[in-house]
Amino acid sequence: MSRYRLNPAPAQEAALRDHRGHARYTWNLAVEQHSHWHPGRVSAPGYLEQCRQLTAARAEHPWLAAGSQTVQQQALRDFTQAMAAFLDPASPARRPSWRKAGRHEGFRIVGRGRQWHVRRVSRHVGEVRVPKAGWVRFRWSRTVPPDAKSYRVTLDRAGRWHVAFAVIPAPVPAPGNGEVVGIDRGVAVSAALSTGQLLRCPALTARERARLRRLQRKLARAARGSNRRSRARHAIARLKARETDRRKDWAEKTSTGIARRFDVIRVENLKITTMTRSAKGTRENPGRGVRAKAGLNRGILASGWGLLVRRLQDKAPDRVQKIKPHYTSQRCSACGEVDRGSRESQAVFRCTACGFAGNADVNAAVNIAAGRAVTARGGDGVARPVNREPQLLLHSG
Ligand SMILES: [Zn+2]
Repeated sequence: MSRYRLNPAPAQEAALRDHRGHARYTWNLAVEQHSHWHPGRVSAPGYLEQCRQLTAARAEHPWLAAGSQTVQQQALRDFTQAMAAFLDPASPARRPSWRKAGRHEGFRIVGRGRQWHVRRVSRHVGEVRVPKAGWVRFRWSRTVPPDAKSYRVTLDRAGRWHVAFAVIPAPVPAPGNGEVVGIDRGVAVSAALSTGQLLRCPALTARERARLRRLQRKLARAARGSNRRSRARHAIARLKARETDRRKDWAEKTSTGIARRFDVIRVENLKITTMTRSAKGTRENPGRGVRAKAGLNRGILASGWGLLVRRLQDKAPDRVQKIKPHYTSQRCSACGEVDRGSRESQAVFRCTACGFAGNADVNAAVNIAAGRAVTARGGDGVARPVNREPQLLLHSG
């Protein structure tokens, strides 16, 4: 994704706001249709059925009919894709859920050449064609990827519009060296490789974090609807956007590096979203260790782990294997002994049986590298000698 700052004229901005609202409405329509449906049951409404319902909704609501059909149909296609990802047994994604105003705000246009065009009008200015809005200017901060197939227009919480051109990253060719790497999501660092390398995802600096805390205090004190409040909110949004950009950049570079160096990449089959949600609890039933878990989970999310794994899957399709996470952190990578007591601290592993000691995350990563692959059907597969697997995979790839 390469993102550019979009500068719509006032009339164009109104059109963008409409598209955004319509995309959200259409998406939520699809969510509602699926809300009574569960995996295993037949006859969930398919895309075509949804299109018929969209046509009916447009006939009923003039405000929807006045909008762009391209935008609305694309929202349905996006939903269908999200549903397919949710049902994919190999790497299940989250179930698509309601889109709320003020969050998840955007719309997508595909079909370059047919539905949209992009052109450069001067050194620093480009224009992208948006249905019903015409040519909308954006800051040409770098070259638009010539192979971009679609774009997404979003409004961030600081009130700025962006356009992001999507290019599906080309798979990185396997090095063909037969090497397997295990990666563990760390707590102290973002990820540990079985080679011993520790990866750190950049976050905000101490100075930026201090500034963020100051702004948050200011926001809490400011009166609702005041200028002070909106200034603080924008400044907070800008800081958070900076952190996100850094994380994305890190995930891009790191995933490319790993995909170039190793033939097989093994990661734990972790569901980050369920982990983070379970820790929240409710006010009546706060759950155990909520505070500690919440801190840990923030770390997991901040580490960009999920993003790294997604990019690895994009760049090394068929070379990423997900391993069941059982005991990877309690098992000694030297002798195989499993003992909770060996995890001396969060950072240090010391085997109670053979005395092997090392970085706890690296120890887990070695176990993951040697681990058993979870098969596409969700079973745990058959353990095969580690040294044979890469060859098997190379032949099939
Ligand atoms: Zn041991």
